[in-house]
Amino acid sequence: MSQTLTGKVAVVTGGASGIGLASAEAMMAEGAQVVIVDRDESALKALQDKHGSAVVTLVVDLLDPAACAALIPNILAKTNVIDIFHANAGLYVGGDLVDAENDAIDRMLNLNINVVMKNVRDVLPHMMERGVGDILVTSSLAGHYPTPWEPVYASSKWAMNCFVQTVRRQVGQHGIRVGSVSPGPVITSLLSDWPAEKLAEAKAKGSLMDASDVAEALIFMLTRPRHVTIRDVVMLPSQFDL
Ligand code: NAD
Repeated sequence: MSQTLTGKVAVVTGGASGIGLASAEAMMAEGAQVVIVDRDESALKALQDKHGSAVVTLVVDLLDPAACAALIPNILAKTNVIDIFHANAGLYVGGDLVDAENDAIDRMLNLNINVVMKNVRDVLPHMMERGVGDILVTSSLAGHYPTPWEPVYASSKWAMNCFVQTVRRQVGQHGIRVGSVSPGPVITSLLSDWPAEKLAEAKAKGSLMDASDVAEALIFMLTRPRHVTIRDVVMLPSQFDL
Protein backbone atom coordinates (compact mmCIF):
# COMPACT_ATOMS: atom_id res chain seq x y z
CA MET A 1 0.00 0.00 0.00
CA SER A 2 1.16 3.52 -0.74
CA GLN A 3 0.07 5.24 2.50
CA THR A 4 -1.67 7.97 0.54
CA LEU A 5 -3.98 8.84 3.46
CA THR A 6 -1.33 9.15 6.17
CA GLY A 7 -2.22 11.95 8.58
CA LYS A 8 -5.90 11.97 7.57
CA VAL A 9 -8.80 11.29 9.90
CA ALA A 10 -11.63 9.36 8.26
CA VAL A 11 -15.07 8.54 9.69
CA VAL A 12 -17.08 5.58 8.35
CA THR A 13 -20.66 5.01 9.46
CA GLY A 14 -21.91 1.43 9.42
CA GLY A 15 -18.24 0.45 9.41
CA ALA A 16 -18.51 -2.73 11.49
CA SER A 17 -19.36 -4.95 8.52
CA GLY A 18 -19.72 -5.23 4.77
CA ILE A 19 -18.86 -2.27 2.57
CA GLY A 20 -18.21 0.07 5.52
CA LEU A 21 -15.71 -2.35 7.05
CA ALA A 22 -13.93 -2.80 3.71
CA SER A 23 -13.79 0.99 3.34
CA ALA A 24 -12.48 1.49 6.88
CA GLU A 25 -9.80 -1.19 6.55
CA ALA A 26 -8.72 0.07 3.11
CA MET A 27 -8.34 3.59 4.51
CA MET A 28 -6.35 2.23 7.47
CA ALA A 29 -4.12 0.37 5.04
CA GLU A 30 -3.49 3.72 3.31
CA GLY A 31 -2.40 5.20 6.63
CA ALA A 32 -5.55 6.99 7.80
CA GLN A 33 -6.73 7.13 11.40
CA VAL A 34 -10.26 5.75 11.11
CA VAL A 35 -13.30 6.32 13.31
CA ILE A 36 -15.81 3.50 12.86
CA VAL A 37 -19.38 4.29 13.87
CA ASP A 38 -21.85 1.42 14.18
CA ARG A 39 -24.61 0.10 16.39
CA ASP A 40 -23.03 -3.38 16.54
CA GLU A 41 -21.11 -3.26 19.81
CA SER A 42 -19.55 -6.74 19.67
CA ALA A 43 -18.28 -6.29 16.11
CA LEU A 44 -16.75 -2.94 17.12
CA LYS A 45 -15.06 -4.54 20.12
CA ALA A 46 -13.48 -7.16 17.85
CA LEU A 47 -12.28 -4.41 15.46
CA GLN A 48 -10.80 -2.42 18.32
CA ASP A 49 -8.88 -5.51 19.46
CA LYS A 50 -7.73 -6.22 15.91
CA HIS A 51 -6.58 -2.72 14.92
CA GLY A 52 -5.60 -1.08 18.21
CA SER A 53 -4.73 2.61 17.97
CA ALA A 54 -5.32 2.76 14.19
CA VAL A 55 -9.03 2.81 14.91
CA VAL A 56 -11.49 4.62 17.17
CA THR A 57 -14.78 2.76 17.54
CA LEU A 58 -18.04 4.42 18.54
CA VAL A 59 -21.16 2.46 19.41
CA VAL A 60 -23.95 4.64 18.04
CA ASP A 61 -27.47 3.85 16.88
CA LEU A 62 -27.84 6.51 14.20
CA LEU A 63 -31.62 6.13 14.36
CA ASP A 64 -31.53 7.53 17.88
CA PRO A 65 -32.06 11.28 17.23
CA ALA A 66 -29.97 12.42 20.21
CA ALA A 67 -27.09 10.09 19.32
CA CYS A 68 -27.25 11.22 15.70
CA ALA A 69 -27.14 14.90 16.73
CA ALA A 70 -24.16 14.29 19.03
CA LEU A 71 -22.14 12.30 16.48
CA ILE A 72 -19.96 14.96 14.85
CA PRO A 73 -19.28 16.96 18.06
CA ASN A 74 -18.34 13.72 19.85
CA ILE A 75 -15.93 12.69 17.11
CA LEU A 76 -14.33 16.14 16.90
CA ALA A 77 -13.86 16.10 20.68
CA LYS A 78 -11.74 12.97 20.19
CA THR A 79 -9.90 13.69 16.95
CA ASN A 80 -10.00 17.50 16.47
CA VAL A 81 -10.30 17.06 12.71
CA ILE A 82 -12.35 15.12 10.20
CA ASP A 83 -10.80 14.94 6.72
CA ILE A 84 -13.05 12.26 5.25
CA PHE A 85 -16.65 11.45 6.14
CA HIS A 86 -18.03 8.26 4.58
CA ALA A 87 -21.81 8.06 5.08
CA ASN A 88 -22.33 4.37 4.52
CA ALA A 89 -24.77 2.94 7.09
CA GLY A 90 -27.94 1.86 5.36
CA LEU A 91 -30.90 -0.48 5.59
CA TYR A 92 -32.66 -2.43 2.88
CA VAL A 93 -36.36 -2.98 2.18
CA GLY A 94 -36.97 -5.08 -0.90
CA GLY A 95 -39.92 -6.77 -2.52
CA ASP A 96 -43.35 -5.54 -3.46
CA LEU A 97 -44.48 -2.14 -2.24
CA VAL A 98 -47.79 -3.59 -1.06
CA ASP A 99 -45.90 -5.79 1.43
CA ALA A 100 -43.74 -3.01 2.91
CA GLU A 101 -44.54 -2.26 6.55
CA ASN A 102 -44.68 1.27 7.95
CA ASP A 103 -41.93 0.75 10.47
CA ALA A 104 -39.55 -0.75 7.90
CA ILE A 105 -40.23 2.09 5.44
CA ASP A 106 -39.73 4.74 8.12
CA ARG A 107 -36.52 3.28 9.55
CA MET A 108 -34.98 2.71 6.13
CA LEU A 109 -35.79 6.17 4.77
CA ASN A 110 -34.65 7.73 8.03
CA LEU A 111 -31.26 5.99 7.98
CA ASN A 112 -30.64 6.04 4.21
CA ILE A 113 -31.41 9.71 3.62
CA ASN A 114 -32.37 11.76 6.72
CA VAL A 115 -29.43 10.62 8.85
CA VAL A 116 -27.00 11.05 5.95
CA MET A 117 -28.30 14.57 5.34
CA LYS A 118 -27.98 15.51 9.03
CA ASN A 119 -24.50 14.00 9.47
CA VAL A 120 -23.20 15.74 6.35
CA ARG A 121 -24.84 19.01 7.43
CA ASP A 122 -23.10 18.73 10.80
CA VAL A 123 -19.62 17.98 9.45
CA LEU A 124 -19.65 20.61 6.68
CA PRO A 125 -19.00 23.72 8.85
CA HIS A 126 -15.82 22.06 10.18
CA MET A 127 -14.64 21.19 6.66
CA MET A 128 -15.59 24.61 5.27
CA GLU A 129 -13.64 26.34 8.02
CA ARG A 130 -10.56 24.29 7.09
CA GLY A 131 -11.19 24.74 3.36
CA VAL A 132 -10.76 21.04 2.66
CA GLY A 133 -12.65 17.79 3.11
CA ASP A 134 -14.06 14.74 1.42
CA ILE A 135 -17.64 13.53 1.77
CA LEU A 136 -18.38 10.08 0.37
CA VAL A 137 -21.67 8.23 0.40
CA THR A 138 -22.52 4.63 -0.38
CA SER A 139 -25.36 4.88 -2.82
CA SER A 140 -26.45 2.01 -5.06
CA LEU A 141 -27.01 1.00 -8.62
CA ALA A 142 -30.65 1.06 -7.50
CA GLY A 143 -30.26 4.84 -7.25
CA HIS A 144 -29.65 5.08 -10.99
CA TYR A 145 -31.86 2.36 -12.39
CA PRO A 146 -35.51 1.84 -11.39
CA THR A 147 -35.03 -1.69 -10.00
CA PRO A 148 -38.59 -3.02 -9.96
CA TRP A 149 -37.98 -5.53 -7.16
CA GLU A 150 -37.17 -2.85 -4.56
CA PRO A 151 -39.11 0.42 -5.04
CA VAL A 152 -38.76 1.51 -1.40
CA TYR A 153 -34.99 1.01 -1.26
CA ALA A 154 -34.37 2.41 -4.73
CA SER A 155 -36.27 5.59 -3.84
CA SER A 156 -33.96 6.22 -0.89
CA LYS A 157 -30.89 5.94 -3.12
CA TRP A 158 -32.36 8.20 -5.83
CA ALA A 159 -32.88 10.77 -3.07
CA MET A 160 -29.31 10.23 -1.93
CA ASN A 161 -27.95 10.78 -5.44
CA CYS A 162 -29.92 14.03 -5.71
CA PHE A 163 -28.53 15.08 -2.33
CA VAL A 164 -24.95 14.36 -3.42
CA GLN A 165 -25.28 16.33 -6.64
CA THR A 166 -26.95 19.36 -5.06
CA VAL A 167 -24.71 19.58 -1.98
CA ARG A 168 -21.65 19.22 -4.18
CA ARG A 169 -22.69 22.33 -6.08
CA GLN A 170 -23.19 24.24 -2.82
CA VAL A 171 -19.86 23.39 -1.19
CA GLY A 172 -17.46 22.71 -4.05
CA GLN A 173 -16.08 26.25 -3.92
CA HIS A 174 -15.03 25.64 -0.31
CA GLY A 175 -12.57 22.91 -1.31
CA ILE A 176 -14.89 20.07 -0.39
CA ARG A 177 -15.32 17.09 -2.68
CA VAL A 178 -18.62 15.20 -2.50
CA GLY A 179 -18.66 11.80 -4.17
CA SER A 180 -20.67 8.61 -4.28
CA VAL A 181 -20.14 4.99 -5.09
CA SER A 182 -23.07 3.05 -6.52
CA PRO A 183 -22.45 -0.69 -6.55
CA GLY A 184 -24.71 -3.39 -7.86
CA PRO A 185 -25.21 -6.38 -5.53
CA VAL A 186 -22.33 -6.85 -3.07
CA ILE A 187 -21.82 -9.95 -0.93
CA THR A 188 -22.71 -8.58 2.55
CA SER A 189 -25.32 -9.35 5.20
CA LEU A 190 -27.66 -6.84 3.55
CA LEU A 191 -28.14 -9.24 0.64
CA SER A 192 -29.89 -11.71 2.95
CA ASP A 193 -32.88 -9.34 2.79
CA TRP A 194 -32.97 -9.45 -1.01
CA PRO A 195 -35.94 -11.23 -2.59
CA ALA A 196 -34.79 -14.89 -2.72
CA GLU A 197 -35.44 -15.33 -6.45
CA LYS A 198 -33.51 -12.15 -7.28
CA LEU A 199 -30.54 -13.31 -5.20
CA ALA A 200 -30.57 -16.74 -6.85
CA GLU A 201 -30.61 -15.04 -10.27
CA ALA A 202 -27.70 -12.77 -9.36
CA LYS A 203 -25.71 -15.74 -8.05
CA ALA A 204 -26.45 -17.80 -11.15
CA LYS A 205 -25.26 -14.97 -13.38
CA GLY A 206 -22.14 -14.41 -11.30
CA SER A 207 -23.10 -10.77 -10.87
CA LEU A 208 -22.23 -10.36 -7.17
CA MET A 209 -19.25 -8.24 -6.24
CA ASP A 210 -17.09 -8.12 -3.10
CA ALA A 211 -17.01 -5.29 -0.58
CA SER A 212 -13.30 -4.94 -1.35
CA ASP A 213 -14.19 -4.02 -4.97
CA VAL A 214 -16.21 -1.10 -3.59
CA ALA A 215 -13.43 -0.08 -1.21
CA GLU A 216 -10.98 0.05 -4.12
CA ALA A 217 -13.26 2.48 -5.94
CA LEU A 218 -13.50 4.66 -2.82
CA ILE A 219 -9.73 4.74 -2.37
CA PHE A 220 -9.32 5.59 -6.06
CA MET A 221 -11.67 8.57 -5.67
CA LEU A 222 -10.01 9.76 -2.46
CA THR A 223 -6.48 9.57 -3.79
CA ARG A 224 -6.94 11.55 -7.01
CA PRO A 225 -5.12 14.87 -6.95
CA ARG A 226 -7.63 17.54 -5.94
CA HIS A 227 -7.61 19.10 -9.40
CA VAL A 228 -8.75 15.79 -10.94
CA THR A 229 -12.01 15.00 -9.21
CA ILE A 230 -13.71 11.62 -9.63
CA ARG A 231 -17.17 12.30 -8.28
CA ASP A 232 -19.49 9.34 -8.75
CA VAL A 233 -18.55 5.76 -9.49
CA VAL A 234 -21.30 3.45 -10.74
CA MET A 235 -20.27 -0.21 -10.48
CA LEU A 236 -22.26 -2.26 -12.93
CA PRO A 237 -21.80 -6.05 -12.69
CA SER A 238 -20.87 -7.31 -16.12
CA GLN A 239 -23.56 -10.00 -16.08
CA PHE A 240 -26.34 -7.73 -14.83
CA ASP A 241 -29.30 -7.45 -17.14
CA LEU A 242 -30.29 -3.77 -17.23
P1 NAD B 1 -24.19 -4.52 6.05
O1 NAD B 1 -25.47 -4.90 6.68
O2 NAD B 1 -23.09 -5.51 5.97
O3 NAD B 1 -23.59 -3.23 6.79
C1 NAD B 1 -24.41 -2.21 7.31
C2 NAD B 1 -23.80 -1.74 8.62
O4 NAD B 1 -24.59 -0.63 9.08
C3 NAD B 1 -23.83 -2.82 9.72
O5 NAD B 1 -22.56 -2.90 10.34
C4 NAD B 1 -24.90 -2.31 10.66
O6 NAD B 1 -24.67 -2.69 12.03
C5 NAD B 1 -24.81 -0.81 10.47
N1 NAD B 1 -26.05 -0.14 10.86
C6 NAD B 1 -27.32 -0.46 10.46
N2 NAD B 1 -28.20 0.35 11.07
C7 NAD B 1 -27.48 1.19 11.85
C8 NAD B 1 -27.84 2.24 12.74
N3 NAD B 1 -29.12 2.55 12.96
N4 NAD B 1 -26.84 2.91 13.37
C9 NAD B 1 -25.54 2.57 13.18
N5 NAD B 1 -25.15 1.57 12.37
C10 NAD B 1 -26.12 0.89 11.72
O7 NAD B 1 -24.59 -3.99 4.64
P2 NAD B 1 -23.76 -3.34 3.43
O8 NAD B 1 -24.19 -4.04 2.21
O9 NAD B 1 -22.32 -3.25 3.74
O10 NAD B 1 -24.43 -1.90 3.42
C11 NAD B 1 -23.68 -0.69 3.49
C12 NAD B 1 -24.24 0.31 2.50
O11 NAD B 1 -24.07 -0.19 1.18
C13 NAD B 1 -25.74 0.60 2.65
O12 NAD B 1 -25.95 1.99 2.55
C14 NAD B 1 -26.34 -0.11 1.47
O13 NAD B 1 -27.54 0.49 1.04
C15 NAD B 1 -25.25 0.03 0.45
N6 NAD B 1 -25.27 -0.90 -0.68
C16 NAD B 1 -25.24 -2.25 -0.45
C17 NAD B 1 -25.28 -3.11 -1.54
C18 NAD B 1 -25.26 -4.61 -1.37
O14 NAD B 1 -25.65 -5.30 -2.30
N7 NAD B 1 -24.82 -5.13 -0.24
C19 NAD B 1 -25.33 -2.61 -2.83
C20 NAD B 1 -25.36 -1.22 -3.02
C21 NAD B 1 -25.32 -0.38 -1.93
